[in-house]
Amino acid sequence: MKIICIGRNYTDHIKELENEKPTDPVVFLKPDTAILLKKQPFFIPDFSQDVHYEVEILVKINKVGKHIQKKFAHKYYDQIGLGIDFTARDLQAKLKEKGLPWEKAKSFDGAAVVSNWIEKAEFPDVDNLNFSLQKNETIVQQGNTSLMLWKIDEIIEYVSKYFTLKIGDIIFTGTPAGVGKVVANDKLVGSIENKQMFSITVK
Ligand code: ZN
Repeated sequence: MKIICIGRNYTDHIKELENEKPTDPVVFLKPDTAILLKKQPFFIPDFSQDVHYEVEILVKINKVGKHIQKKFAHKYYDQIGLGIDFTARDLQAKLKEKGLPWEKAKSFDGAAVVSNWIEKAEFPDVDNLNFSLQKNETIVQQGNTSLMLWKIDEIIEYVSKYFTLKIGDIIFTGTPAGVGKVVANDKLVGSIENKQMFSITVK
């Protein structure tokens, strides 16, 4: 399986990193080895002094597809989750400066937190989901999927022009504002609509 990530999908987060608003979605991949194993702590890698959390709504693909039209995109997923796109911000800044790919900063082992899954049918509208991240019991990020520049169905249409989507692939849909640094012993708890989706400890 593969993990497809969307960057710069919320205006407030684009502003906080002083990035340009993209005319097309920013897309990058994480390998399956980036998934943080269940019940394991997240270990800050030794090549970064500035690892950031980015909480994101996840979509799990349940059907093979390529060149999927937006109007059919809803048929290609039936589960929603929550994740963290851990990012070595210092390393990413260096790579960005040189115009190099971001993989070392975003796709290292453990850099993808993936929660358990909830049936899409349990939500009245996937384009109006509240989600949040707490760090040490304080809310640090809050988002609503209605604020995405590209909605889930548009993301599926866009990425499937380039990559065949396969069963089990996961899409990270981008992070709202409030990203920040983690240090050892931080506890991160993610929720969708007040339902706790994951709880992880940083080491
Ligand atoms: Zn992200």
